Amino acid sequence: MIYKRSSELFANAKKVIPGGVNSPVRAFKAVGGDPIFIKKAKGAYIYDEDGNKYIDYINSWGPLILGHAHKPVVDAVIEKAKNGTSFGTPTEIETKIAELAVEMVPNIDKIRMVNSGTEACMSAVRLARGFTGKEKIIKFAGCYHGHSDSFLIQAGSGAMTFGTPNSPGVTQGTAKDTLLASYNDLENVKQLIENNRDQIACIIIEPVAGNMGCVPPKKGFLEGLRRLCNETGILLIFDEVMTGFRLAAGGVQERLGVNADIICFGKVIGGGLPVGAFAARKEIMDYLAPIGPVYQAGTLSGNPLAMAAGLAMLTELHKNPKIFESIDKKTEYLHQGIEKALKKNQVPHTINREGSMISVHFSEEPVTDFDSSAKAALNGIFNKFFHGMLEHGIYIAPSAFETWFISEALSYKDLDKTISAVGKVAKLL
Ligand code: PMP
Repeated sequence: MIYKRSSELFANAKKVIPGGVNSPVRAFKAVGGDPIFIKKAKGAYIYDEDGNKYIDYINSWGPLILGHAHKPVVDAVIEKAKNGTSFGTPTEIETKIAELAVEMVPNIDKIRMVNSGTEACMSAVRLARGFTGKEKIIKFAGCYHGHSDSFLIQAGSGAMTFGTPNSPGVTQGTAKDTLLASYNDLENVKQLIENNRDQIACIIIEPVAGNMGCVPPKKGFLEGLRRLCNETGILLIFDEVMTGFRLAAGGVQERLGVNADIICFGKVIGGGLPVGAFAARKEIMDYLAPIGPVYQAGTLSGNPLAMAAGLAMLTELHKNPKIFESIDKKTEYLHQGIEKALKKNQVPHTINREGSMISVHFSEEPVTDFDSSAKAALNGIFNKFFHGMLEHGIYIAPSAFETWFISEALSYKDLDKTISAVGKVAKLL
């Protein structure tokens, strides 16, 4: 494929934007080469500035569960825009989306909208600290909760991709309040709680991790965290930015049957516009300003265009819950096809999947936490795999530490094409 115009655009971008991108993993720095500039997209496909077409497994890093430019979402945004783009006052649509989210997600009474997953997690932790009066938090190595200071301690996603899981600029004072645990290791969490008795406000976790590649929780792990939290008064925060409205209408709480105290959302809830949200039972949410003491705000929070996109998206999912079954089936089909192709070509691999979240780790060892994920990524196979797939018109995330995002717009023909490309690329690995 020819990427001439993309390379020219990247050269221009680098002059005025740090690294040429507004979010690091987009830069292809980890996999090598220049990033591809996308011009337009529809359904399962994206088209770049050189006219190349790709089957898309990024889907804006998760939000576009129904594919690109989904008509009800686009129409809702256009209609809304005609009446003004932002007022900074209450609007009816904010209540509409809140009502729908509260109906779809178990165990929440109230929800507050913000502009990104980062804001959702940052605000959720502040709320947990305010509510409990404790300062420390437990997070898991390899989990990513956005780029707010207290989360950039052994963070996953781009932070892991670029070898900066602990970012300069985060003060020691902040870092000392973030206690680090190992994913899927309940004993480790127990120990941390014991060593920091009565000092921990919350445990924040990706209940199915997607930012060290896909790493599902072991049986009993989430249940164990719930039990520990019940025994100690620590709040359990599920960061469902990736899993919310994807693994089920009610997210992981519904799919795996474990309840959290605070849930963070992002991605799907905004239908592809900048939206995040956090939600909990009434007693916790009423701790927020203007009725409670914990301050949290946003000029563009609940923005009409973002709410229109989000409401249209959630309405589609609510109307047609079979979508969740359908994308799970598609992902399972893909899983089996990739597995077969890699096996046939003797490529060492472990495929992790939970519902429509899937990733291929190039190692035969089980990938259950940060260390095993990092080890699988070290051998360089992923980079060859990524570029090989790209040459065949298959666009997956440019990092070994990401999940493939499956959309309902993918047809079985697209999946077969993808599996066939894996077979061809596998011969070269
Ligand atoms: N939490 C999780 C689980 C995420 O995957 C992400 C983003 N990939 C975030 C938080 C941060 O969201 P945002 O990029 O919208 O700030």
